[in-house]
Amino acid sequence: MNDNITKRNELLAQKVIKGLESRNMSGYYAASKEEALKKALELIDEGSSVTMGGAMSAHEIGLVEAVKNGNYNFIDRDAATDKRAAMLAAYDADVFLSSANAMTEDGVIVNIDGNSNRVSAIAQGPKKVLFIVGMNKICDDIDGAMKRARNVAAPINAQRFGLNTPCAKTGSCMNCKSPDTICCQFLITRFSRHEGRIHVILVNDNLGF
Ligand code: SF4
Repeated sequence: MNDNITKRNELLAQKVIKGLESRNMSGYYAASKEEALKKALELIDEGSSVTMGGAMSAHEIGLVEAVKNGNYNFIDRDAATDKRAAMLAAYDADVFLSSANAMTEDGVIVNIDGNSNRVSAIAQGPKKVLFIVGMNKICDDIDGAMKRARNVAAPINAQRFGLNTPCAKTGSCMNCKSPDTICCQFLITRFSRHEGRIHVILVNDNLGF
């Protein structure tokens, strides 16, 4: 990462972390993917049950691989034959790994979901939720974050999963009601009632979509 971008990201991350703290959530800045992985593993106790929603960023820093190979009980929804059982088990997990579709500079987290297992587990259930968020996901405000979620994250994800949505063809949101839409539920996480539940590692890199 270019030095000037790193300086800007570091300063911006401090603002986001203050915002998170004002919302009873915890934030951390990682200067690299390696630092992010180290911090994430510090936040996950050995022996914990760990699962995840769509979390490309957690893959990109090597966290999913580290958890699968470490001393944890990883609930692997992708490998499970009974997907519903794996999704229900996620609600009782010690740690839920997630990325965010977007965040605001003052610490609000925005996620959209089709199946909605990810947003529901972020909202309640797992004892700890650990977000891995590249600095490319930070937006000025809620409007910007929603626009990013629907015009950047959603079209790329729709293309990635081969979904038949207008955005997969045009590259931007057409506010569809397609059966394949991934915009079924929008979750805006603006405060946590539960001290120590939500943690966000902000990574000085472009992660996910
Ligand atoms: S509402 Fe439809 S067109 Fe818009 S981002 Fe979501 S899936 Fe794509």
